Amino acid sequence: MTAKRFQENNEDRISISTPTDNDPTLVHCPKCQSKAFVILYHDEVRLSCPSCGYNQAKLAEQRTFYWGAENPADSYFGVDLWLQTDCAGQSLWAFNRRHLEYLEDFVSAKHRQRNPNIETWQNSSLASRLPKWLKAAKNRPQILKAIEVLKSRV
Ligand SMILES: [Zn+2]
Repeated sequence: MTAKRFQENNEDRISISTPTDNDPTLVHCPKCQSKAFVILYHDEVRLSCPSCGYNQAKLAEQRTFYWGAENPADSYFGVDLWLQTDCAGQSLWAFNRRHLEYLEDFVSAKHRQRNPNIETWQNSSLASRLPKWLKAAKNRPQILKAIEVLKSRV
């Protein structure tokens, strides 16, 4: 068995929470609580719910983060994230599919390499901001299981 390596990329907290064309932010619809999508369209973000037709749009530059929260919201509309579950007595959450994959790579890796190009706070890497419990080896099996559960909900 070869030890899996985690090579830190340039993903930071702003970039990971920004929806892309094929990877929207998944949220709870504020009206019906079903799975809804936040997408970026030019300089606008749009929240839309396929279940009830709820729609909302606003300028993408207005963002608020609650990184320390148990469920820190989508950063644009302040709605709850769809990908949230309890894990090891903590809250495991992700904005989107690539965030889940990022966490999976990070947690499953035995060796973690820091990206030396990331220095400033503004660009502070996502890995450096992950909570301690996510980095604890004893939590690894539980966390990977929870990530699997969340992936099935994407
Ligand atoms: Zn809805």
